[in-house]
Amino acid sequence: MTLSGKTVLITGASRGIGAATAQHLASLDANVVLVARSNNALKELAKEIGPKAKAMVCDVSDLNQVNAVVNASVETFGSLDILINNAGILGPVDMLADIPPNDWGEVIDTNVKGVFYMMHAAIPIMVAQKKGVIINVSSGAAYGVLEGWSHYCASKAAVLQLTRSGHEEYGDQGITCLGLSPGTVATEMQVAIKASGINPVSKLEVTDHIPASDVAQAISYLCGATGVNYAGEDFQLKLPSSRAAAGLSAR
Ligand code: NDP
Repeated sequence: MTLSGKTVLITGASRGIGAATAQHLASLDANVVLVARSNNALKELAKEIGPKAKAMVCDVSDLNQVNAVVNASVETFGSLDILINNAGILGPVDMLADIPPNDWGEVIDTNVKGVFYMMHAAIPIMVAQKKGVIINVSSGAAYGVLEGWSHYCASKAAVLQLTRSGHEEYGDQGITCLGLSPGTVATEMQVAIKASGINPVSKLEVTDHIPASDVAQAISYLCGATGVNYAGEDFQLKLPSSRAAAGLSAR
């Protein structure tokens, strides 16, 4: 598979799933726009990838910053073909009544408003091109509730509804909008989850998680022509059939 000539904007590209996805998509010849708040990490990754990568510092919860990076992507590479909404935070793991409201709100600002702002900025460009792919990184938390994660679960359920809305409103205009629920992945987020000691996910061992490179490969599969088959819903990478479809070995 090649993504030659395609421009992909990846949020949360400074580490974890986003960084692995940027590396993998660039290896398939895509132009990659790397978005996150950590300037040094983005710059290092862009240097490693080479001229096909552009690092752009942006807090996805800030509408003006989001509009600026989406416009700059088009100015730099001439189009915006694929948007990967991957940036996300877990927030403090604690009971509903104990979480400081500002911290709870920060999770919603990043995980929900960040996805909405990116879709809001990218969709007009994709509609004008009559094509585009939007992949929102989802979670099992969109469906099930875990103790201490009220903000995160609420945010991922909202992201799933944004995925469905994107498909409902723009699916007939050439936009493929879908989600990807990766299962548990060995990244810094799982380190924070383990440290919390709350709920069964914190009891998992690092060997229980898939590597971020598996998620990157599944994302590249969904960027291709078959991605439309999953439009409007989450591709569940935990399913053996999904891993096989994405060309990943069974676990
Ligand atoms: P990491 O914590 O390793 O990475 C999160 C990324 O999001 C970082 O690049 C971070 O960069 C970026 N980010 C956070 N807040 C913002 C912001 N306000 N603006 C821009 N970028 C931001 O997590 P993962 O790689 O594990 O997570 C990626 C996605 O996958 C998330 O949406 C997460 O919810 C989801 N997911 C992860 C699972 C797992 O087991 N790891 C399971 C299911 C879903 P910076 O700090 O530089 O801004």
